Amino acid sequence: AGIGSQATPAGGVDAGRASHIQLEAIAISRRFGDFQALEDISIGIEKGEFLTLLGPSGSGKSTFLNILAGFDAPSSGKLVQGGEDVTHRPAEQRNFGMVFQGYALFPHLTVAGNVSFPLRVRKVPSADRSRRVAQVLESVGLTAHADKLPRQLSGGQQQRVALARALVFSPDILLLDEPLSALDKTLREQLQIELQRIHREFRTTFVFVTHDQSEALALSSRVAIFNHGRLMQVGKPADVYTRPGSRFVAEFLGQVN
Ligand code: ADP
Ligand code: MG
Repeated sequence: AGIGSQATPAGGVDAGRASHIQLEAIAISRRFGDFQALEDISIGIEKGEFLTLLGPSGSGKSTFLNILAGFDAPSSGKLVQGGEDVTHRPAEQRNFGMVFQGYALFPHLTVAGNVSFPLRVRKVPSADRSRRVAQVLESVGLTAHADKLPRQLSGGQQQRVALARALVFSPDILLLDEPLSALDKTLREQLQIELQRIHREFRTTFVFVTHDQSEALALSSRVAIFNHGRLMQVGKPADVYTRPGSRFVAEFLGQVN
């Protein structure tokens, strides 16, 4: 690597500009029997963006996220990453972090043990592991809780542990499926602010799923709006809000929770 590709302490912003599409979905469809859950979804996920998949329940958001994660494969279409077809690459071989609603923590491991787990799997040496775990716990505000068990934490704190565990190995992309939906309004708003801060701090690409319009508009750099398995519109929150491309988008964004 030459001088131009030297990594910055913050994690290589310049490298990001050179190839700004990190993962590209091309004409992804998914059928379950006769049911078309996704139809012809094409979108380029940009390095470092906070992309939100927004749509009503049953619109195909989780199905699409599972295909990005490698938990499921499309019936047709493909995923391309760095010029390679990764459509059928197993989830373990994609360097993606995942946080789901009620994502299970290991109940017998402490907070630090949970967060350190992905590093143990990757055989990171113990000293590096401790340093990295301390750093990530600090970022999500859990330093004081490092030695507690999950059951000693609140729901919001458990979700922060899940977030820390997904970020600890510096994933290429963090996939979040309605991670805040089970939390009450106050806690949800607090964690929304934290998610934005963490996104800025880690500079990881976030693909975030929600059915909550105001959450999507508040958090994202781009919103992709789904309905009945189709991608209706993609754009910056302000643009989709002020220039909805269809009656569905206008009405859906107009619904205030
Ligand atoms: P969302 O996350 O937007 O609420 P999903 O992606 O979970 O929606 O589901 C989209 C549609 O696909 C739903 O109608 C759901 O019932 C259907 N679906 C999802 N997974 C399966 C499956 N494994 N088998 C059959 N139908 C499924
Ligand atoms: Mg879902």
